[in-house]
Amino acid sequence: MILDYNEYVTESGHKGVVNYVSIESRLPLFSHKSICPFCHTDIKAVIYQKSQRDYPEWLFGSFDQLEEVIQCPVCGWWEYKYQNNSDAVIDGIRASDIEYSSAILKRYDNSSCEVPIDALRQQLLKTPDIIYSIDPHKMEDLVRSVFSDFYPSCKVYSFGKTRDGGKDGILVDNDGAQILLQIKRRENPKSTEGVIPLRELMGVSLMYDNVKGCIFVTTADHFSRDATKYAKAMETKRRVDKFELIDCREFLKRIDLTTDKLPTAWESLLKL
Ligand SMILES: [Zn+2]
Repeated sequence: MILDYNEYVTESGHKGVVNYVSIESRLPLFSHKSICPFCHTDIKAVIYQKSQRDYPEWLFGSFDQLEEVIQCPVCGWWEYKYQNNSDAVIDGIRASDIEYSSAILKRYDNSSCEVPIDALRQQLLKTPDIIYSIDPHKMEDLVRSVFSDFYPSCKVYSFGKTRDGGKDGILVDNDGAQILLQIKRRENPKSTEGVIPLRELMGVSLMYDNVKGCIFVTTADHFSRDATKYAKAMETKRRVDKFELIDCREFLKRIDLTTDKLPTAWESLLKL
């Protein structure tokens, strides 16, 4: 199962006295408990906190603000809280605003075509074995997403759903040189990637001008000795500058290395 916590819902409440008038709305929010919708536990693990006290010009008194983010250590569900307290008795103000933004729990099957790529990348960091059951088209989107972050100087393009001679994507670097991308999602974690699909990819590369390399990504455990030899030979004979072979372990490593490029959903909510 893949959990997605990139979307959220926001609620806010107010209480106190403003201009000598008593105000209140959504009072229960002030005693809100942060319960993970997936694990059903009361989450207390604060992963971000910032507070600030000001004496702003618009208020004859103090203005305290606090924001914090808690996150479920098990499943990654998060909640952002913002609270402020204004205290200016001379102006007849003593009030609090509170706001909670809570991640919405969305679940997807491992093989779902609907799962957002960022959620899939986050889940793979926790449970890499789901790579063997994800949808083959999703696998292609995943590789392109990871490679876009891994090769920041290249643009990664898809060839769309209509396959053209067995290539799944293309990387274009700053100089316009192209690198063909082939992706094979093998279901058996112990499988070996043989030489034949590499030859096919090489064959396709000869049909184009300006192809300087090939990258072959597979979820197989490793490449056969013939496959490794073939890729080396293509480089030695200068048929391509680089023929890169990426097996499952290496691909998962790249997912790890590009984690910091993934957006943190709550970061956009920070006010302080
Ligand atoms: Zn949880």
